[in-house]
Amino acid sequence: MSTVSIARREFPMWIGGQLVRTSSTQTITLPYDGSPVADVYVADAAVVERAVTAAEAGARAMAGLALYERAGLLEEMRRLLARDAEEFATLISSESGKPIREARFEVERSQQTLIASAGAARDLHGEAIPMDAAPTGKGRWAMTVREPIGIVAAITPFNFPLNLAMHKIGPAFAAGNSVIHKPAENTPLSALRLARLIQEAGAPEGAYNAVTGPGELTGDLIVSNERVAMITFTGSVPVGQKIRSKVGLRRVTLELGNNSSLIVEPDADLEMIVPRCVTGSFSHSGQVCISVQNIYLQEKVADEFTSKFVEQTRRLRIGHPLEDATEISSLINVNEAARVESWIDEARRSGAKVLTGGTRQGATIEPTILANVPSHLNISCKEVFGPVAVLHRYGALEDAIARVNAGEYGLQVGVCTQDMGRAFRAAQSLRFGGVIVNDVPAYRVDHMPYGGTKKSGVGREGPRYAVEEMTELKLICWRA
Ligand code: NAD
Repeated sequence: MSTVSIARREFPMWIGGQLVRTSSTQTITLPYDGSPVADVYVADAAVVERAVTAAEAGARAMAGLALYERAGLLEEMRRLLARDAEEFATLISSESGKPIREARFEVERSQQTLIASAGAARDLHGEAIPMDAAPTGKGRWAMTVREPIGIVAAITPFNFPLNLAMHKIGPAFAAGNSVIHKPAENTPLSALRLARLIQEAGAPEGAYNAVTGPGELTGDLIVSNERVAMITFTGSVPVGQKIRSKVGLRRVTLELGNNSSLIVEPDADLEMIVPRCVTGSFSHSGQVCISVQNIYLQEKVADEFTSKFVEQTRRLRIGHPLEDATEISSLINVNEAARVESWIDEARRSGAKVLTGGTRQGATIEPTILANVPSHLNISCKEVFGPVAVLHRYGALEDAIARVNAGEYGLQVGVCTQDMGRAFRAAQSLRFGGVIVNDVPAYRVDHMPYGGTKKSGVGREGPRYAVEEMTELKLICWRA
């Protein structure tokens, strides 16, 4: 068990350096067994208005910080996060149902995101423009600078409640902006605890504001407020589309879904890639936007890969998320588990073979591997967001690439082969935000550019790239 346990308590919102409560509350439960963990408050229009006013003052203060001061703030946040790591891991595990060992890893990754954000702050710069490259530029000089844009609204999903928040707060602070954060309704606790950490790190009042409530109410009020300069959203495609339709001329970054594919060529190193697939498909019960969902196996390697993959998957330990040994725990709630179960049943009825798993107990789904699945079924062509891997077979690499490219998503994809020429050709042909060679598409380090094509979204994260989205490029030109 985690060494820190949390007794049920209230987590107020945080606005302009103050704790804020409303008359409307919501209980947060442990997804694994439905036991109550904490109580939070629902922000109405008046509270959102107060948050926007506080964030305006916060934005002015953040813009006034020198780059080394912004970097220093982010570095202090990292130090405090390392100090309080176990408390944050326990909160993440309790609100999301994520196994504690993965929650600890999320806290470590959040620190990496802060380190990269501090680096992005120190490196924030424009460039000199060679004006005299055109005749009318003769005798002129120009440079660009990157200026803060004001209030950044961060709307985050349930699956990485801390690190995905950090991917928005870190770059926003590096850019000199303030943040209004609306965490997912079922996982707001780590964000509300983070507010205290950010204050302790010395952030100006109003630099970080955390408001809680349902997306359709609180989230929509934030998105609709014209004083918010940018929305940075991570979540599902339908909500992303709704937000995009409301932002008008304001900035928006959308990090959306995927049904990630891996292509396994006959010369792939199976000793390396099979265990990576077990982790890549079943970490956090597949509730990862780049979870390995579709595995395309070249015919010569398909049988050997399948037997190894099934055998290693059966060894995964299912249990309570706060137990140290647990590798698989529940999904975010029973409804989501029932949806995943219904997609598995639909595949079964269409002739799919269940090689392992396929059962549900409450909110927990056994890690499941399917074969013979028609590719038009939900479980293959939509994002399953559950512990399910679908095995496909192919003959020619070009065929596998065409099938993967035909999908509606484009976040990350993996290709496994020792032949660098084939790997490179595949990487050039695949229309994705990221191509991962000789590893699963679930691979990510926090400073790399990350984001998708097609329905997987708009814009890039990774602090250096997110800072570009969160700043205004200004040209200053003068006659010599
Ligand atoms: P979701 O879209 O249901 O909710 C995400 C956030 O949006 C929540 O905070 C929610 O309250 C808010 N929201 C809902 N309706 C809103 C509205 N009308 N206006 C404003 N805000 C609103 O997503 P989820 O179920 O929490 O997370 C799962 C999804 O997130 C998956 O599709 C997954 O692929 C995606 N995801 C993507 C990435 C990525 O980086 N591309 C990373 C993690 C998760």
